[in-house]
Amino acid sequence: MLFRNTISRRAFLAGTAGATALVVMHPFALRAATGQAHLRIMETTDIHVAIYPYDYYADAPNDTMGLARTASLIEGIRAEAGNSMLVDNGDFIQGNPMGDYIAYERGMDGNRAHPMIAAMNVLGYDAATLGNHEFNYGLEFLNAALQGANFPIVNANIINGTEMGADPTQDQRFISPYTIVDKQIVDGAGETHTIKIGFIGFVPPQIMIWDSANLTGNVSMRGIVEAAEAYVPQMKEEGAELIVALSHAGIDPAETGEMAENASLQLAGVEGIDVVFTGHQHLVFPGNYADLAGVDNDKGTLMGKPAVMGGFWGSHMGLIDLLLERDDDGKWSIVDHTSEARPISERVDGATVPTVESVAAVEASVADDHEETLDYIRRAVGETSAPLHSYFALVADDPSVQIVSQAQTWYIEKIMAETEFNGLPILSAAAPFKAGGRGGPDYYTDVAVGPVAIKNVADLYLYPNTIRAVKITGQQVKDWLERSAGIFLQVEAGATDAPLINPEFPSYNFDVIDGVTYKIDITQPSKYSSDGELVNPDANRIVDLQFNGEPIDLDQEFIVATNNYRAGGGGSFPGADGSTIVFVGPDTNRDIIVRFIHESGTINPSADSNWSLAEIGSTVLFETGPKGAEHVGDVTAVPIEATGDTSEAGFGIYRITL
Ligand code: MN
Ligand code: MG
Repeated sequence: MLFRNTISRRAFLAGTAGATALVVMHPFALRAATGQAHLRIMETTDIHVAIYPYDYYADAPNDTMGLARTASLIEGIRAEAGNSMLVDNGDFIQGNPMGDYIAYERGMDGNRAHPMIAAMNVLGYDAATLGNHEFNYGLEFLNAALQGANFPIVNANIINGTEMGADPTQDQRFISPYTIVDKQIVDGAGETHTIKIGFIGFVPPQIMIWDSANLTGNVSMRGIVEAAEAYVPQMKEEGAELIVALSHAGIDPAETGEMAENASLQLAGVEGIDVVFTGHQHLVFPGNYADLAGVDNDKGTLMGKPAVMGGFWGSHMGLIDLLLERDDDGKWSIVDHTSEARPISERVDGATVPTVESVAAVEASVADDHEETLDYIRRAVGETSAPLHSYFALVADDPSVQIVSQAQTWYIEKIMAETEFNGLPILSAAAPFKAGGRGGPDYYTDVAVGPVAIKNVADLYLYPNTIRAVKITGQQVKDWLERSAGIFLQVEAGATDAPLINPEFPSYNFDVIDGVTYKIDITQPSKYSSDGELVNPDANRIVDLQFNGEPIDLDQEFIVATNNYRAGGGGSFPGADGSTIVFVGPDTNRDIIVRFIHESGTINPSADSNWSLAEIGSTVLFETGPKGAEHVGDVTAVPIEATGDTSEAGFGIYRITL
């Protein structure tokens, strides 16, 4: 994560080390004259139930996350005794195993607050808005979770029910569209004034697609800008002197129209909006964006208005400092501003170093939930009837890859049914992430038959990727597989004990595509180099490529479920350069696997042997981890035997007869 190394940030750190109080003051605090006031508004966003600095998937402490840590930055600002407010920009009740534990196991029984609400109540927010992930567990759960909040939660573009009003202000409200807070501020002369500050919230209208099962028939959506244009004048009429947008949306100048998802820049252009808090993209602003039209990535403005995005999981606190001035009529307006995102950790010599300690009261407010979550991640949430391991994932269809594809297909089928692409065949691409190589002989996925715990899911899906779907042709499906097949060295027909795997080719680029069947003929040269260059245009390693038992129609269109890395061009796969994306999902592939296991109870990820290496009258040598010996009997797609030899690095060497 990038951050601006501003004077105030350095001064803040100096302050924690015991420097004089004067050093920590923001320039506006010194500058504010009579009739002027310094107001600081702090943002948390996309916390996703990360309250403790603890990675529940890894079952280990983690200094890059945790609202308890962000709380230290918040307390630091408050300790300066100036005028400050605190807002949250949404995505708070879902996104880690603690959120899943509350939703799937503990439930909201009315006696205990949701842990995020409990922690937020301790911190004392002035306002919050809903993120798209608030809807993942359904409306009943959401309503129960929000019950205990001691702060206003606002949203202006969700309509209760399916009927739209004549304009957004005539819609049936799902929750209050905005709140106007009477904020007491002290000016530069030490006089107290009351200023009316309006907070209005927005969420991407795409929640109707992402959470169709929970929302269709219950709510409907307005565009973010459309709702703002209708409500801001009403807020002004009700006396709001300053209008602050809580936009659970990112920054993307390319998105236009009422279905714009990351519409914060467009929202900043709405007359009357003074300040924009952003989020959803899990990035840092200022710092992470290019200077596009309307975006000042250095100063932290959108359409000239102060804006900020405070990372995710508590990684940063977003901070907007305003210098306000009172006119002759007693109305306040912004005359100067700064924006920054302050991190809770830094990278020093390749290691993560926390910049702050946890606030004990925040951790204490959810200590029971933390302990119960630890218990939850360590105990079974489902069963697997087949071992989930990756020892032979590069030479035969494999259960550790199969379950990823099963979950992705399950998810994308439901999504596509809501789109114009309903009816197109759905395939799924997945690769073995942990398959030895440079990771060493113990670097494999290995989950035994029987109970599957949440901890195991991180082992099945290593990266926090998010789901995508692309629409490609049969020809592109074939070329995608040709690209994958570059992991194999070329082997002559009749060769004896030829090495099989190109060690330069990372296993995460060995995509298996489920939903089609195919063989890989390694007597052919690879069509693509190990970094994806087209080197042998006429080569065809992929043979007998079939869909529904018939040779694939190269002109037919397919939907392929994959992840953001691949769909956006990672690995340079044909048909996956970003231009073919038809669905950008908000959910991590890992969360999708958890939901799939949770809903299925027992999973049977036995590989369906939809691909195999073609017979070429040769023997080849393949290395895998020593524990692969326990599973070699599971491999039926190719004749394989242990040679009894071990490589220098400690891998067992196997002979495959092709
Ligand atoms: Mn989020
Ligand atoms: Mg398969």
